[in-house]
Amino acid sequence: MNDCTTCQEYGLRFKRNYLPVEFIEGKKNSLVWIVGLNPAAEQDWVDSRTASDLEKYFDDFETIHGYFKDFQSVSESVFGSFGKDFGTAHTDIVKCSSKSFPPESAKGKKAAAVISNCKGFLEEQIKTHKPKIIVCNGADVSKFMLDFLRPPSTHTKAQTSYWSSIDEIKICVVLSGFIGRIDNYAKRRLGIEIEERLREVNNQQT
Ligand SMILES: [Zn+2]
Repeated sequence: MNDCTTCQEYGLRFKRNYLPVEFIEGKKNSLVWIVGLNPAAEQDWVDSRTASDLEKYFDDFETIHGYFKDFQSVSESVFGSFGKDFGTAHTDIVKCSSKSFPPESAKGKKAAAVISNCKGFLEEQIKTHKPKIIVCNGADVSKFMLDFLRPPSTHTKAQTSYWSSIDEIKICVVLSGFIGRIDNYAKRRLGIEIEERLREVNNQQT
């Protein structure tokens, strides 16, 4: 069984049959990655899935987590691309699970410190699989990404997406509140923004 040694000190655990860098649901070549905070599960949650189960996670829409169903109101095309080649995939910054974030066992630690501790796996995933668009699911993720994938100096607070890069890999970051909590208007606004950015990506490739 694999574990993430850096998160253990804060009480988060990773008990899986795959490696932290393999934690991505959907196809690894997906253009759009929805990035959340961490799996909200008990610290001793054991994920019985294998790396290939993760890739096929969206094949059966009946069994996907309610978390993803909110994306239907964001964008039919982004939602319909979950699990497809060059489609939409999901991962978390922190691969390790905890019921609340930061977990009670990390008392006194700021969320940012706990998030930053596990970011190496996400960095490796991005450099390996080169997603085009990262959608930040929630304020904590957005705040982290503004530092991790920095916006250009012309970026203003009113802008909710921007182009950044890491190791010369160009990535568009789309900031958002937690999709399970924003209203339908905000969901659709987000969806339109992702669709527009995807058009930019497709134009760059032709
Ligand atoms: Zn970790």
